[in-house]
Amino acid sequence: MTTNALASTIVIDTDKAPQFIDITERVVEHVKSSNVLEGIVVVYSMHTTAAIKINEYEPLLIQDMEDFLSKLASPDAYYRHNDFGIRTVNMGDDEPPNGHAHLQHLLMSTSETIPIANGDLQLGEWQRIFLLELDGTRPRKRRILISVVAYNYSK
Ligand code: ZN
Repeated sequence: MTTNALASTIVIDTDKAPQFIDITERVVEHVKSSNVLEGIVVVYSMHTTAAIKINEYEPLLIQDMEDFLSKLASPDAYYRHNDFGIRTVNMGDDEPPNGHAHLQHLLMSTSETIPIANGDLQLGEWQRIFLLELDGTRPRKRRILISVVAYNYSK
């Protein structure tokens, strides 16, 4: 983890998809160490197949959300992005067949913004911040930026 007062990058290991990883405490720690009293914090995924979403951590609901994502874009459907016989652009050595993950990500968000008041993250009772892995074709390291915009610091 690289840290300065306001911005840091964390790296999260993922190993399946969909995978909801609760990163709320990492964001709370960062906001506390920033000494910002009033402001906002932006939690931002640097990826096109891993999203940031606020929702409730309840295991059965997470299964429901996983089913919902599979219905939106099934991993088993045909995607041109996965058709390596015709695709020529952005091809890596070990290109994953992850068309479904990109389409799911299209409807998710790359970042969430949370207000800070009196030094605390303003999350509702059931709100948790998730890194949402959508591409489970191999274990991955996901880079997440946590960036605080300060209106006012504590003394
Ligand atoms: Zn891709």
